[in-house]
Amino acid sequence: RPESRDAMQHAIDEVESQLGEDYPLVIGGRRIDTREMIISRNPADSAQVVGKVASATDDDVLNAIDAARDAFRLWAATEANYRAEYVELIADKIRERRFELAAWMVFECGKPWADADADVAEAIDFCNYYAGHMRTLAEPQQCDVPGEENSYFYKPRGVVAVIAPWNFPLAILTGMTAAAIVAGNTVIMKPAEQSSVIASKLMEIIEDVGIDRGVVNYLPGVGEDIGADLVGSPDISLIAFTGSQEVGLAINEQASAADDRQQSVKRVIAEMGGKNAIIVDEDADLDEAVVGVMHSAFGYSGQKCSACSRVIVHEAAYDDFLQRLVGATESLKIGNPTDPATAVGPVIDEEAQQRILETISEAKEEEIEVALECDLGDLAESGYYVPPTIFCDVDPDSTLAQEEIFGPVLAVIRAADIDQALDIANGTRYALTGGVFSRSPETLKRVRQRFDVGNLYLNRGITGAMVNRQPFGGFRMSGIGSKTGGPDYLQQFLLPVNVTENTM
Ligand code: NAD
Repeated sequence: RPESRDAMQHAIDEVESQLGEDYPLVIGGRRIDTREMIISRNPADSAQVVGKVASATDDDVLNAIDAARDAFRLWAATEANYRAEYVELIADKIRERRFELAAWMVFECGKPWADADADVAEAIDFCNYYAGHMRTLAEPQQCDVPGEENSYFYKPRGVVAVIAPWNFPLAILTGMTAAAIVAGNTVIMKPAEQSSVIASKLMEIIEDVGIDRGVVNYLPGVGEDIGADLVGSPDISLIAFTGSQEVGLAINEQASAADDRQQSVKRVIAEMGGKNAIIVDEDADLDEAVVGVMHSAFGYSGQKCSACSRVIVHEAAYDDFLQRLVGATESLKIGNPTDPATAVGPVIDEEAQQRILETISEAKEEEIEVALECDLGDLAESGYYVPPTIFCDVDPDSTLAQEEIFGPVLAVIRAADIDQALDIANGTRYALTGGVFSRSPETLKRVRQRFDVGNLYLNRGITGAMVNRQPFGGFRMSGIGSKTGGPDYLQQFLLPVNVTENTM
């Protein structure tokens, strides 16, 4: 709407005038500067410094854990309703600062406007959903029989390490943190290096609403440097991690290595990557399928864990679909996300850019056919751009079709029939999202049973997560099967207790 557009433009201008500032750690309510800083750059213009963020040392990790442990005593004893009200206040504050937060995402993560706005909306939804759900879980559950009273209730677990990725810089960090604190835990918030400025804005909001000091601690830092001390600490009860498979597996290993000081078995919530496929059947509505696949594959430059990176097309529709997909993708506007017309912006940083460009070169060396490689003009000179690229007739077992790329690269694969398409779709180690375009009720019935993913989308593009409506998360090497924004998520942050009292 025009008024939102004006507000967003105003926020972009405001944020631009605040670029380059310093951001300290926040431990137990105290602001702490460090010698080492993380320099956060605008992916669309690498010369532009978005902010300089303090980078935590090993001592800061210990201090943050102490602060969270101290705060736990009081916070764990509060009523669920009291905590839920605070989390709802966080949602209100995020809503008040909606355009400003989205603008920070445009600058720090290169997110196009609409994606940035959706990220903010999801953060608000997570807070409200978990607050409401905690109130329900806090209701007493009695199962009394003559002579015996049985009550069942939940207790918080302790100190939670929240380790977040950069691709949903506000939503995922806010969601994991809100779930942890509304359940009565205290938190060490470790954002991704690439999105630590946005994370500091969330910390500002948490402080603004007046939550006790130390309940949430802001600990940006380099994952490989401080991760082991954080994850391995005997005082951490739970690790809520979202990120790559590689880091998720390393965290699982570190978390299970106990020493003499260890007091409990740590729980690890790990939500990881995907190699998501959309199947296009012979009778599919190809116009819908093209739009759905294109937005899913190239939205936010393919940097969503839900993004489609393989499209498996029935032989009979293959040529027609590919031609239309190439035509539509060619017309996508690639540019700076500060421009509201931009559909595809840069990728997050130079390392990602080089890794994705290398994947494209290797596929070409293997003589995989290029159906489209978009023209970037002179964009690559200023920022971390990668051309949206479509490969066709891709072998389903090739590296291109098996490994998560996390960039604007799509593999088009041919299938003889729907069963072969399903075998191909299920033939990676991931199981996060999937989609099917088909007009046949029989086919749709079959894919519901056979498509092995956590989130399946029928006759619509892969749209990702929607709190409450579409709880999100995958299986196998995509994650442990916990669904964010769904009815099972919050229990993971809680310990169930049963008390039996003899009343005879
Ligand atoms: P990443 O694994 O590189 O980093 C995630 C976080 O882990 C960062 O905060 C990082 O600093 C930290 N980290 C790195 N090494 C660590 C270590 N040794 N110990 C502890 N922490 C460490 O992931 P990323 O590049 O930020 O995000 C992209 C990945 O996240 C993709 O694979 C994507 O599919 C996945 N993802 C999954 C979901 C989901 O819901 N399943 C959602 C978003 C992103």
